[in-house]
Amino acid sequence: MISSDYIELENKYGAFNYQPLPVVLERGEGIFLYDVEGRKYYDFLSAYSAVNQGHCHPRLIDKMCEQSSRLTLTSRAFHHHLLGRFEQYACEMFGFDRLLPMNTGVEACETAIKLCRKWGYLNKKIAPYAVNILFANGNFWGRSIAAISSSNDPDSYTDFGPFVPGFSLIPYNDLQALEDVLSSDPTIAGFMVEPIQGEAGVIVPDEGYLKGVRRLCDQYRVLFIADEVQTGIGRTGKMLACDHEGVKPDILILGKALSGGMMPVSAVLCNDEIMLNLKPGQHGSTYGGNPLGCAIAMEALQIVIDEQLPENSEIMGQLFRQQLQELPDHRVSHVRGKGLLNAIDIVPYDDGRTAKDVCLQLMKNGVLAKQTHKHTIRFAPPLCIQKSDVMDAVQLIRQSLLQME
Ligand code: PLP
Repeated sequence: MISSDYIELENKYGAFNYQPLPVVLERGEGIFLYDVEGRKYYDFLSAYSAVNQGHCHPRLIDKMCEQSSRLTLTSRAFHHHLLGRFEQYACEMFGFDRLLPMNTGVEACETAIKLCRKWGYLNKKIAPYAVNILFANGNFWGRSIAAISSSNDPDSYTDFGPFVPGFSLIPYNDLQALEDVLSSDPTIAGFMVEPIQGEAGVIVPDEGYLKGVRRLCDQYRVLFIADEVQTGIGRTGKMLACDHEGVKPDILILGKALSGGMMPVSAVLCNDEIMLNLKPGQHGSTYGGNPLGCAIAMEALQIVIDEQLPENSEIMGQLFRQQLQELPDHRVSHVRGKGLLNAIDIVPYDDGRTAKDVCLQLMKNGVLAKQTHKHTIRFAPPLCIQKSDVMDAVQLIRQSLLQME
């Protein structure tokens, strides 16, 4: 079978809830992906920042093989020998009392919201069923009914209502808007926010925004919930994007690269005051905290430390943005990002071509990246990328833009 056969098969039997680039991948190694015809590509998406450690990292493969031949799933009906160790490992790494493991990012975000609501009732003493949680316009934390209930993206929510109540939106990167709402509404228990908005197009807030969020949340006794599912684990040049401003959220949400692309592992971290409100039977997941996931997550985090991936992300990110700035400005209007979470805005083509067409051209030249919205392309390679590959990839990006003149 060739690429078109595989795509046809998906088109015949699958749902059209994604619009993938027409490339059929079958192997990955480090920063590279290979299609079924054996063509090699730079991966500049990293599975939406899940593969920070690089594809099929040998240490993760070894851990996967070792643990999967021993014990993979017990459910939480019983204890197993890795859950406590993973919880301790991550709590010590990120400086929290406790960790609650889940699988996907959206589940971890939903868990954070449940924890926040409980805290709102039990600790902040908000009237029954009155707790409100704030989100920022442009947020993205998944596709569940709760997630789309807090979304202002019509593609996400249209025709999926009725929606979950108790969620409100304010503009992103606007401390005044946050203060206005917090000072006038005592039913708000939390503000859930991405330190950099990934899906919205890599929107980097002004310096001081996170510090301001921390200060206002303290002032009005509201939980600062940091959704670091995409920005965490080295992606932005620090272990957490919150580290850039030296702030610590009340609830930290991790996912994606927590397992280096091997399987879904996510986690919510917070202190006793919040976590101990949860009692048996009030939350859970069959696979959440499974032995295989715990083993993989510890290894995935240790790789990030051992290989100094946040540091590399910072250095390579600066080089990459510097190089992107030199792309012709009649084609690229804006370059932004932190570490290796970056994006460019494409100047709209007169003939209606968009960022998607640029991604198709990039693909033909051996670089896989994906547009977010009509004119933005996100570039987020695995964090192990080296200088020569950054330079080579930028050359391919330049070449692609020139070919589209
Ligand atoms: N939160 C953020 C910031 C995300 O970017 C995403 C996914 O892209 C999620 C949550 C949801 O993660 P998942 O797709 O693993 O459910």
